[in-house]
Amino acid sequence: MKGENLSRKVTPEIINKLQEIVGIDNVNTNDMDRMLYGHDLAPLPKEAGLAFKNMPDVIVRPSTTEQVSAIVKLAYETGVAIVPRGQSTWGLGGSMPTNGGILLDMASKMNNIVKVDTVNMSVRAQAGTSWKTIIDACEKEGFLVGSYPSSFPSATIGAWFSTSGIGPGGYKYGCARDNALNMQVVLSDGTIIETGYDALANNMSGYNLNQLFGGAEGTLGVICECTYRIYPRGIIKPVAYEFDHLRDMGAPINDICKHPSVKPLHIAWSDYNHFENQRKAGIHAPDVANLLLVTFQGDEQFVALEESIVDKFVEAAGGRKISDEIAEHEWEERCYEFRARRTGVGSIPAEVVVTNDNWAKFVDECYEGYKAMKMEPGGIIGMVADRSTSMFMPYYFKDDESLLGMTAFAYNFYMGDRAAEYGGRSLGLGVFFASNLDLIHDAGSVALMRSLKTHLDPHDVINPGHLVCGNTKFGITLNKNIMGIAAKLMCGVKKIMPTNKTFERNLKRFHYDDMEHEKDLSRVVEYGKGTE
Ligand SMILES: Cc1cc2nc3c(=O)[nH]c(=O)nc-3n(C[C@H](O)[C@H](O)[C@H](O)COP(=O)(O)OP(=O)(O)OC[C@H]3O[C@@H](n4cnc5c(N)ncnc54)[C@H](O)[C@@H]3O)c2cc1C
Repeated sequence: MKGENLSRKVTPEIINKLQEIVGIDNVNTNDMDRMLYGHDLAPLPKEAGLAFKNMPDVIVRPSTTEQVSAIVKLAYETGVAIVPRGQSTWGLGGSMPTNGGILLDMASKMNNIVKVDTVNMSVRAQAGTSWKTIIDACEKEGFLVGSYPSSFPSATIGAWFSTSGIGPGGYKYGCARDNALNMQVVLSDGTIIETGYDALANNMSGYNLNQLFGGAEGTLGVICECTYRIYPRGIIKPVAYEFDHLRDMGAPINDICKHPSVKPLHIAWSDYNHFENQRKAGIHAPDVANLLLVTFQGDEQFVALEESIVDKFVEAAGGRKISDEIAEHEWEERCYEFRARRTGVGSIPAEVVVTNDNWAKFVDECYEGYKAMKMEPGGIIGMVADRSTSMFMPYYFKDDESLLGMTAFAYNFYMGDRAAEYGGRSLGLGVFFASNLDLIHDAGSVALMRSLKTHLDPHDVINPGHLVCGNTKFGITLNKNIMGIAAKLMCGVKKIMPTNKTFERNLKRFHYDDMEHEKDLSRVVEYGKGTE
């Protein structure tokens, strides 16, 4: 690695320069704020600080691509780490610093739409814009974005591309990478590039740079603006089907995938635990066993035809159509997958992809895994990504308040191994699962990825310690051998511990509605003094 002589320290001179670039109000070194920016949505035990310098030295809020370029150039010249962050909802530590440095808050100010182009059917916006902002702006013009993450109310458009996610709409229109027309990216030395074209497809000769930055988890450059395809909206019609057993959905899902013309916008499922746990938590949930939600979109006549075909597939598999009201409810609530969390528990999904022909068998594996790892099941939810792939997100409850609660991650390792047996793999690498890179690709591809990183980021300043190597602050890489031992150890400890009961315990001690009511009663408002 070049750049051995760089100081890699955030000095007062660097803070001054940052203030010159973005203005004094947009440079923050406050201790409390730095602590908040030291992790993403996933809770991190304070012991993590022993391994990582996860608190950034400074938080910077740029407004323009030119400002990002100047900040990145400064990082390049000094060797200081720079960590791009959207709304930190990913949960795999992608936007968590591993060695301090500059935290680039892309969501605070770089959140404006540049253009909704209804003629060439694309939308261009700054990378920190939320999906909801884009969806609403396109809807107003009678268009929809191809796909987006379920976390769309907050998740940012640049970050989803960086994680190459799978989400609603993806079955019909493809996922993050498939809808990307153009990305404006700042490279590690501050150079600004456009990777494609705002109105033209990229299928021409030349390396496809659009795809290069998709899934790079912010390790190859900072995305500043994104252009995505949009599509004529027509109608959106969610339809709900109930099954006695989750595994019975496998047949109709495969029938849909093999049909030459039926192409729903979204195919998703939730098992009985998912609804039962919501009811236990005092949340209104439909009275269903296992639910298959198929959402159709387009011209009304075509939608009616597709629906009638899927009705027959479902009927043949012993399922039944249920009310439009339930279908609408589940579609509207698609961004609140972990609703039972309001009882104050942690809930984490093991996100894996498997081939659709193994769909029913993999359902059994998810339930087996809950038992084998002594988990407290949250529910088995997921979506069909494309004709051959399904994303399973079996989630579980865990104790976020104790270090031992971390052993619940054993289920993620366990399910990753099971997925591999069914032609699949775990999703997302971040810091903690970076060693999976060596497991999910052949050695030659991994070597090429690592040399690309070194070439594009020779001073190792762009989100270091992520994706190509999970790095601790002591420079020890969390490679596949170390993580393999850690995973085995975690699974071993988890198996000898008592079965998790955090959700059940919290139901007794945490009454959300009562607490809200008490808070209301005890709230004292004196005008001019704020709310206490
Ligand atoms: C309830 C819930 C539902 C979810 N549903 C889905 C889903 O359906 N599909 C799915 O794929 N994910 C889903 N997620 C995960 C997550 O929300 C998505 O990955 C989302 O796209 C992350 O966006 P963010 O702005 O929060 O990114 P962050 O967590 O801030 O960052 C994610 C990664 O992107 C990098 N990054 C951020 N901004 C930039 C940039 N401008 N340039 C370069 N790199 C950048 C970061 O460094 C980090 O590595 C869900 C999460 C929750 C909590």
